[in-house]
Amino acid sequence: MTYKAVIGLEIHAELNTKTKMYCSCKNSFGDNPNTNICPVCTGLPGALPVINRAAVERAVFAGLAFNCRINKFTRMYRKQYFYPDLPKGYQISQFDMPLCEDGIIYYFSGDELKSAGVKQVHIEEDAGKLIHGGDRTYIDYNRCGVPLIEIVTRPDIYSAIDAQAFLETVRRMLLFLGISDCNMQEGSLRCDVNISVSDTRNSCNSERVEIKNLNTFGGVRRAIEFEIKRQTGLLESGAVISRETRGWDEKRQISVLLRSKEDIEDYRYLPEPDIPAIRIDDRFIDNLRNRLPEFEYQKRIRYTKEYNLSGYDAGLISGNQGLAVFFDKCAKLGANPVECAKLLTGEVLRLENETGISVMESKLKPEDICAVLSALKAGKINHGTAKTITRTLFESGGSAADLLLSPAFSRIDDETYILKTAAETLDENPGALKDYISGKQNARTFLIGQCMRKTKGRANPRVLSRILDGELRKRKAEKE
Ligand SMILES: [Zn+2]
Repeated sequence: MTYKAVIGLEIHAELNTKTKMYCSCKNSFGDNPNTNICPVCTGLPGALPVINRAAVERAVFAGLAFNCRINKFTRMYRKQYFYPDLPKGYQISQFDMPLCEDGIIYYFSGDELKSAGVKQVHIEEDAGKLIHGGDRTYIDYNRCGVPLIEIVTRPDIYSAIDAQAFLETVRRMLLFLGISDCNMQEGSLRCDVNISVSDTRNSCNSERVEIKNLNTFGGVRRAIEFEIKRQTGLLESGAVISRETRGWDEKRQISVLLRSKEDIEDYRYLPEPDIPAIRIDDRFIDNLRNRLPEFEYQKRIRYTKEYNLSGYDAGLISGNQGLAVFFDKCAKLGANPVECAKLLTGEVLRLENETGISVMESKLKPEDICAVLSALKAGKINHGTAKTITRTLFESGGSAADLLLSPAFSRIDDETYILKTAAETLDENPGALKDYISGKQNARTFLIGQCMRKTKGRANPRVLSRILDGELRKRKAEKE
């Protein structure tokens, strides 16, 4: 491979605190423009910011989840630049002493466990929002001062697919920690991507190109794919890649030049004089550390090792918080993990997607799944009935034990009834019968399916198979 791409991400996540980063204005999305503002977040002279403890707490929680070192002494800086959505003329952010440093995030890309280093996680404030309408531009300052964390990775990612998998994992982690809504449509999770492609034949490294403000997973992947191609093309033609900032045009599927990149000196970082240094003690950190949940990649490894689940099933369950809790409960109650996983990733996941209700909010209980699985194992019901009962319980509740006893769901072993069904099915499908007699084997599969349909999937398959074969032989003999 002659050309190699190196990718780093900067992920901005809005924190779901009640109030803003440096004032007591409401932190909420979708309110009327300029209703959640005050002298502090609109940068009026003399207004004094006060740091939001809940935001610091959430940021440290994220840092611990990403295996970072938490800096017990840290401070805020003014990052100075002019833009109409930034009324103060500077953003209060962090610089040389970020809250969290030197972490690592584990993620699965397909079936492979990978990791990427985290350079730092720091806290800062969001800017306002420009709304362009007709020939005018309006400014909504409601978002000004909304607390953010910025997660800066090391350039440890080497493909577009991995970058997408990484970002998806970070989003699920933040949701799981409960510190951000991560609503990409509302802009509460956004991502800048740094890409540099270099020629492995010479040691000279290309300048990195930054693509700003991506807010869909597919956009991140496509922008990286495009940028790798663009930079590779430039290198092949002997051109030099210059350091620049680009935007992603989703409509045209290309990246476009925004500006040649400003240097860090251009921001004239200076310590924020209105906010004292932040000191964090061990107890604060330990309290948060004790609350860390088991993460997706840990669950996925546990499911494949302890329970023998396939990578696919383990991935689906561990990536769905509610389903994972539910699965763990079923396994604890003694359900066969592999069978249970199949039912959850099949029927239950389909129900979640269809209804928009998670299994934890549904009326289905882990005890029910256990009862259904043991009835299935004992041969009292077949897979079709297991799904039907699961669906009924998910939607309407009740008890699996009761449903299993009800005649509507029990297996049909009655041979007279099955013979009658088989005979009827053959009468109703003369074409298939003819095909069978002329030697077409798949006609038999079709007829079995029709009998099952008549009995709503409840016929004992072994008995049905025997009786149908007998009936087919009889009809064949009659014809000859
Ligand atoms: Zn305010």
